[in-house]
Amino acid sequence: MTVARILAAKGSDVVTVQPYRTLQEAIDLMNDKRIGAVPVTGADGALLGILSERDIVRALAAGGGAALNDPVTRYMTSEVATTTRHTRVSDIRELMTDGRFRHVPVVEQGRLTGIISIGDVVKSHIEEIETEHRALRDYIATA
Ligand code: AMP
Repeated sequence: MTVARILAAKGSDVVTVQPYRTLQEAIDLMNDKRIGAVPVTGADGALLGILSERDIVRALAAGGGAALNDPVTRYMTSEVATTTRHTRVSDIRELMTDGRFRHVPVVEQGRLTGIISIGDVVKSHIEEIETEHRALRDYIATA
């Protein structure tokens, strides 16, 4: 299964935040949209970084409530691991495990065209196992 299959089901819309927004604004957005991470994009749509719940916890632990007024760029991760539609989901699972992150933006021709979360990866893995299970049961029933 590829990333394209996941995006076909969940869509290509990605909630993003502008680099000059504050941590408080990013938190409000993430809470509102019920998401655990948000890519930071420039005016041209270019991916500048990613801000996740972990970064927010780290910011608050280090700077207390004052950190809420800082720009998201201070706490985001700038070196973002990205993927494309053609990548196999099993490779994304490995990327997430090795990199210890739970979100991978999909980028094509410099444009953000989706985001894969660990929840999407787990869901697709369960679907694959269920399909295989069903095929085996049908095979046994007809043998
Ligand atoms: P997460 O597990 O996705 O909440 O993120 C854990 C840490 O990894 C945070 O510091 C994130 O900014 C960072 N992070 C999340 N996604 C990525 C990614 N695709 N590439 C690099 N770092 C990431």
